Order: sequence, then C-alpha cells, then structure tokens
Amino acid sequence: MKDIPSLFGSMVFNETVMRARLPKDVYKALKKTMSKGTHLELDIANVVANTMKDWAVERGATHFTHWFQPMTGTTAEKHDSFISPIGDGKVIMEFSGKELVRGEPDASSFPSGGLRATFEARGYTVWDITSYAFIKDGTLCIPTAFCSYSGEALDKKTPLLRSMETIDKQAIRILRLFGDTSAQRVLTTVGPEQEYFLIDKEMYLKRPDLIYTGRTLFGARPPKGQELEDHYFGAIKPRVSAFMKELDEELWKLGVNAKTKHNEVAPAQHELAPIFSTTNIATDHNQLTMELMKSLANKHGLVCLLHEKPFAGVNGSGKHNNWSISTDTGINLLEPGDTPHDNAQFLLFLVAVIKAIDDYQDILRVSVASAGNDHRLGANEAPPAIVSMFLGEELTEILEAIESGKGYKNKEKHEMEIGVSVLPHFPKDTTDRNRTSPFAFTGNKFEFRMLGSAFSIGGPNIVLNTIIAEILRQFADTLEKSKDFKSDLSALVKKTFSDHKRIIFNGNNYAEEWVVEAQRRGLSNLKTTVDALPEFVSKKSVELFTKHHVFSEVELHSRYEILMEGYCKTIHIEALAMVDMVKGQIIPACVDYQNDLAKLLKHKKELGGYDVTMEENLLVNIAKLSSSMLKKLTALENTLLDNKEGQDTVTHARFYREKVFAEMQELRLVVDELETLVAKKHWPFPTYGQILYSVI
Ligand code: ADP
Ligand code: MG
Repeated sequence: MKDIPSLFGSMVFNETVMRARLPKDVYKALKKTMSKGTHLELDIANVVANTMKDWAVERGATHFTHWFQPMTGTTAEKHDSFISPIGDGKVIMEFSGKELVRGEPDASSFPSGGLRATFEARGYTVWDITSYAFIKDGTLCIPTAFCSYSGEALDKKTPLLRSMETIDKQAIRILRLFGDTSAQRVLTTVGPEQEYFLIDKEMYLKRPDLIYTGRTLFGARPPKGQELEDHYFGAIKPRVSAFMKELDEELWKLGVNAKTKHNEVAPAQHELAPIFSTTNIATDHNQLTMELMKSLANKHGLVCLLHEKPFAGVNGSGKHNNWSISTDTGINLLEPGDTPHDNAQFLLFLVAVIKAIDDYQDILRVSVASAGNDHRLGANEAPPAIVSMFLGEELTEILEAIESGKGYKNKEKHEMEIGVSVLPHFPKDTTDRNRTSPFAFTGNKFEFRMLGSAFSIGGPNIVLNTIIAEILRQFADTLEKSKDFKSDLSALVKKTFSDHKRIIFNGNNYAEEWVVEAQRRGLSNLKTTVDALPEFVSKKSVELFTKHHVFSEVELHSRYEILMEGYCKTIHIEALAMVDMVKGQIIPACVDYQNDLAKLLKHKKELGGYDVTMEENLLVNIAKLSSSMLKKLTALENTLLDNKEGQDTVTHARFYREKVFAEMQELRLVVDELETLVAKKHWPFPTYGQILYSVI
C-alpha cells in the first residue's frame, strides 16, 4: 500500500518545502511577494533558486524549464540543464535567481497574431510566484507568464492573472459596503471536470485522421453506440483502471487534487474531476492533467483523445468549469448564508452574475468557440450555442417574489425581504437537476458547461472574471454613493433581476422550442466559431477588456487573428487529410473489392447456370458510389485550390465553414456508405465498432 499523504505534492516546491528549506527572512520576503505582488529582490531570488535546485537535484532533476502557456492552447517548455563548467572538464549544478525569475525563449514560432514582427522575435517569460514550481520527467518546471518584448501578453496566464486582480478589486469594494473589513483578497475558484476518450493505440495508428486531426473524418455507425446507456458509471475495465490509477498517483505527486473518476456516457469515454482550487492554479493543473493523460495513456498502449468530437454520432467531450468566488477568509460569496445580512450579500453577487451573463453573453460564447467545439455547441448536442442560465425553481421564485414585491413564503412562512429575512438553503439536489443548461447554479457555485474538452480553461475564466468584475464595479459605483444602503440595495437587486431575467431558463435547453423562445427573448444564437469570433473585437468587448486592463486593444486583435487563423488551419488540415485518405487508401480499397467481385462474376458466368444477382448488384452499387465519391473529392480539391490569399479574416473563415466544411460533409456521407458495402478485409481502417470497443 502506498502512503498517499506523503506521496501527495512530493514533486512540488510548495509551502511546506519552502518553510522547511528557506532561511526565515527569505521565506518571509517570498511570501510577501506572493500575497502582495511586491518586487522580488535579486539576492532573495538567488537564495530561492539555489534551494529549489538542491531540492530538485535530490529528486533526480537535471534540467529546469520555464513552463508557459502560449496561444497554442497547450503548454510549452524549453529545457536547460543545471550544469555549469568550472574548468578542468568538471561541472557543478547551478541555478541562479536571474534564471528563475526571467527567461528569454525565442518567441517567433509561437502564434502572436501579428503582434510581433519577426525581427523583434524575442519574448520573455516571467516567474508566476503564485503557482508552485514542480518536477516533471526529471525537469524542474517554473510556471511562468509569457510576454512579447514590448510587454504584450502572448499567453493565457497573463490576462488570467489580470482578470483575477480586477475581480478582486471590485468584489472587495462590495464587501466593504457590507461592513466586511477583514477580507484582504477575493479569489475566484474553479474545479474543472475533464472528459476524454481512451482507445487502443494499435487502432489509433491505423487511422490517419486521428493522427493528423484528433478526430475521425470518416466512419459508419457501429451496430451499437451509446443507446443502451450501459457505459455511464459502469464498471471500469482493468486496462483503463490501471491507467487511471497511475494518472491519479502522478497527479497527486504534482499536487493536483484528482478526486473523482468514472466512465462517461459514450463507449470508451471517461471523466476526471479534481477538487477545486484558485483559478490560476486550477488552470495550470488542468493543463498538467491533459498532458499527463496523453503521456500515460501511451505508456499503457492506449491513446487519450481530448478532441471535442472524435466520433460522429457518439457524444462529444466537454469540460465543466465549476466557478465560484470566495474571500481569503474562507467565505464562499455564492453560498447563501445563514443570516439576513449574508443573504443580502449573496443576492447582490447572484444578480451581478445574472447581469454579467446577460450583458456579455456574446463574449462568453466567444470564449468557448473553436472548430472542435462547433461539433457540440449548436449541433444538437449538449449544451446548445445559446447562452442561458439555470437557477432552479426555488431561487427563481425567490427572485420573482422580490421583483413583484409580493413576498416569498418559504417553508417557515417568513416573508422574503432583502437584508431582513433568511433565505432557505438550496441543497444541491434541488439546484442541480438540469443537466442541459450551459450555465447552472449548483448550490454554491456556477457550472459553466460549454467548454470543449481540449480547451485551456484560461480563456473562459478570463471572460467570466472580467464580465463579473465589470458588473460589480457598476454596483459598487452606485452603492458607494448611497445614503440609504438597505433600500438602495433592495432596489438594485430588484431592478437587476427584472432587467436581466430573460437569460434565466430552467427548461430543457435541447428542445427545438427553446431556440424559438430564446430568439423571442432577444438572446443571441451564435452557431459557429465564425459567427462568434467577431464579437471578441466588438466595441463593447474592447471597452470592457481595456477598462479592466485585462487585454489591450492590440492584444485583443492579435488573439482574434490567432483564433480565426487557427480555425481556418484546422479545417484546412482536416480537408487535406480527407483527400489523402480517399486517394491513397479508400479508392484503392474500392478498386480491389470491385476487382474481386468482377473476377467472381466473370468466373460464374463462364461456368454458367449460377445466380449472379448479388455480385452484380454489389458491383453496380459500389461503382455508382465510387463515381459519386470521385466527384465530391474533385469538388473538394478544386475548392481548396480556390482558397485565395489576401482575403479579409472573416471572408476567409466563412469560406472554410460554408464551402470547405460543407463539402467535407458530403464526401464523408458517400465514403461512410461505401464502408458498409466494401468487405472488411479490404477496408483500410478500423471501424467505429473496433475503435470504440477496442479496450477490453
Ligand atoms: P458533479 O457536478 O459531478 O455533481 P460536484 O458538484 O461535487 O460534482 O463538483 C464538481 C466540481 O465542482 C468539483 O471539481 C468540485 O471540486 C467543484 N467545486 C465545488 N465547490 C466549488 C467552489 N466553491 N468553487 C469552484 N468549484 C467548486
Ligand atoms: Mg458537474
């Protein structure tokens, strides 16, 4: 039996290690920098670096790296060894404060959206002191932010930290109005539930589409999909279980609170959820989780698919971003409290979230837009592309009662008056019934369910933090001027709910009627990434993000360009992969099988007296479908050639969505039908059935 408590965090340079190993004054100075963001002196950094190096070397590390999160959506690292020559062909292991605090990777090969001309390609990485260093694969990893030489953010961490700062500032203003003088900081917290597929590596290696694009571009429906619903929470297969066990242990060593694991709805689909932590750490940890899922799967002869839609006709994978906001004194501000005073404060934060989601639904939608996620959102899968909120019946009734002024009678028959009466408690089971809502209140937090499985949670949380900070700012501006706090507070809660209740929808989000109803309510329905992305650089978005110093206008535009470009490239690669598979493997397979059939037909006819209906029919059908396939293939190839350079970004992306993607779908339809006719021994790829049920 392993000793889990001592295993946990054993590869992390955390609080305990720092306290034990750093000289007292250095530890104090570092803590001050951590909590107050003050400057770290170089002599202090030198001591910290040296201590870190000793600790890492004792644990087998030979290298260090600045670990950062460029706009590729994954993480990046460049390893340097600790060795330093001392003459006579000898070396010592060294690590300086300068190396710890700042790095200068060549940034020219990371996406910058035109931010950085290549002649000034240098970027730099800066240690994020709020996230602990850790050892991975014999390398000491220093979590860092990544900026261009002129100071623009080139990563997801920098704006995330800025967004945490702005919501901290605005939330503290609100808390002071309620007389809270003890909270010094307000932090947002996140627990991301991660879905993924695990398939056999041998199957994977036979599918160029999975290798190049992460999803299957062809594949006929298997006889059995997820219709029996026998996979969800089902017994975990031994191979999967061995993988999950090792994953848990490796994550624990890195201080990641991996907590829950289970099988998901689709065959071969699984989920992992950690215990929540502050958003910055949760983001780093989720990146580490995805990275380890991939590398450990490989070790077990498996492949972990993080794509949002690896298989058509089978549930895709998402990520549920459980979000809340709490004080450094340990109070969750989305927890309905036990006193009238706490409840009034809770209601104010609650309506702030409601207003933020309603006012900025388009920007929130942008934060979950990607080519991969387009297969889920707005494509008859959970959840839809329309942003709405679920509050549950009870909480909605309370807010409605406040709005109408009629008074809400709770179980104890107390009338509901803000700041006077106590809200009833909302046990999780009464608030979490709706699994179709994109943004659901679940008792003491919100669960944002629109994220794709491959996403960094950085992006969506930057948006959540900033839009809510903006509303808290507006509230604080109003209430700080108030002469009668209680009555102005009541009026504000009432008016906010009344103005923004259209965003609340407790019904079934998958129903056709909701689309119509949402339109009637004036909610937006940005179906695809191409529809959504322009909202990111709208006047409203620029105003919001620049006001809160989360993104400069230049940074916003560069991100917009990166996202649009990424979208086009993704579809372009998918189309090329399709063309390649059809020409190189599918056409030859059809030819071979037709050849077999023709030979048999000829032979039977020569012998005479045989019924040849089957051979003839099959030949005719396959020949017809093959011609149709060739036509669609040629159309797609011609369209790809038609891709004119120099188009504006939106036209370019529309071309990929409306022309290329549409033609890819057409080609797929024919090929999938052919797959059902051509003998399995000729079909060049494993089928859906073989892939989905490959792990036994
Ligand atoms: P489920 O949604 O699967 O029923 P839970 O509601 O228990 O599961 O938790 C889902 C996730 O929400 C977990 O990662 C949990 O740690 C996280 N969570 C719980 N409380 C908070 C909070 N205050 N802030 C952020 N995340 C939270
Ligand atoms: Mg959940």
